[in-house]
Amino acid sequence: MTGLLGIENLTREEVQAILDRARDFQPGEGHGFRRFDLLRGRMVVNLFFEASTRTRTSFEIAAKRLGADAVSITAQASSVAKGESLVDTLNTLAAMRPDAIIMRHAASGAPHFLQRHLETPIINAGDGTHEHPTQALLDARTILDRGASLENLRVAIIGDIAHSRVARSNVYLLSKFGARIVLCGPASLLPVELKEIAPGVTLTTDMNEAIAGADVIMMLRVQFERQHDAPFPADEYFRFYGLRPEHLAMARPEVMVMHPGPINRGREISSEVADSQRSVILSQVENGISVRMAVLERVLGGAIN
Ligand code: ASP
Repeated sequence: MTGLLGIENLTREEVQAILDRARDFQPGEGHGFRRFDLLRGRMVVNLFFEASTRTRTSFEIAAKRLGADAVSITAQASSVAKGESLVDTLNTLAAMRPDAIIMRHAASGAPHFLQRHLETPIINAGDGTHEHPTQALLDARTILDRGASLENLRVAIIGDIAHSRVARSNVYLLSKFGARIVLCGPASLLPVELKEIAPGVTLTTDMNEAIAGADVIMMLRVQFERQHDAPFPADEYFRFYGLRPEHLAMARPEVMVMHPGPINRGREISSEVADSQRSVILSQVENGISVRMAVLERVLGGAIN
């Protein structure tokens, strides 16, 4: 059984199948999420070596909504700093025979490395600055729900691109469908090699240029936990890269404002924009559950395909 390590190696059809299946799990208008028995008797372990509110809770709820049991462990990164002890931790958990391990780790590639040693499927819930596949899937589900199509969509991803696994997974996903993606941020946080990771990607340090004609604006948090020195003062950052109401006029009238969370009001996004009609931030959170239900069903050998 294979897990889900990233978007990069999925085909467009595989991505589409997950997005389609997620629709079946969305709550109806004015209703909560329904319960299914599809994974009754199965067990997943959430193993998070980094802070998380949304993702961990969302995987837990998704597992329970499908009838599976979910156990969550928050590990201190310091106790597993060495590769060997990380393998030992995973082997110990695997010996308890869960059906999948959902893991988040600060080291890029950690789940890929561990999957080579382990038969239990691993679902990547964020590995360092590399990938966050379920975030990109829930973002795509949210865009599609608003009636947009991914083909030819113009998406501006703005902020700390260098440290963003959300940006990478979104680039891989959106480019499979022919979207045009503009990555934007201060030069120190905008690695030029990202232009090469997928077709349809351009880079700019000019926020107005990125937003002009955008159908979707994805804002990113500055990941201070991954930087040794703060690259700029917070108020200066907001002046150049903070999303404010006046920016929205430059985008398409029906532009969607997205953010993976946690949002820092007044740092990368103003409260007016975060709470505006254009913001779909809470729809993203809601879609996190249905998309993760689709992923769990797929990984744990449910009905799709
Ligand atoms: N929650 C997202 C992540 O885990 C984005 C962020 O932390 O800024 O990558």
